[in-house]
Amino acid sequence: MSSLPPCPKCNSQYTYEDRDNLVCPECAHEWPKAGAATADVAAEQARVVRDANGNVLQDGDTVVLIKDLKVKGASSPLKAGTKVKKIRLVEGDHDIDCKIDGFGGMQLKSEFVKKA
Ligand SMILES: [Zn+2]
Repeated sequence: MSSLPPCPKCNSQYTYEDRDNLVCPECAHEWPKAGAATADVAAEQARVVRDANGNVLQDGDTVVLIKDLKVKGASSPLKAGTKVKKIRLVEGDHDIDCKIDGFGGMQLKSEFVKKA
C-alpha cells in the first residue's frame, strides 16, 4: 500500500510520485514532495561508488580494469589489467570518468574495475 499523502486540493487518495513531485491523477494537481530536497542531499552524500571487490572508490584513485571492454570508435578493446589513473566519480550508469592513454577520455562502470 502507498503511504503517500492525499491530494491537498481534492483529497484524492490516488496520488503518485513523479521525481520530486507528488501528482494527483484526478485533478492534475502537482506539488513538491515534503522534504524532497533534503532527502536528495542525504542520498547524494550517501552515494558511494565501489569497485568490483566492494572497495570504496574516490576521485583521484588509480584503478585496474578486470575485463576487456569494447570501446566505441576504437579499433581495439581496452584490455583487462589496463591501469587507469586519476579517476573522477560521476553520476550515472557509467560512474567513472577518466582518461586512458591511447584512448582518451571515457567513462567506465565501477563494477569492471578494481582499486590498484
Ligand atoms: Zn487532486
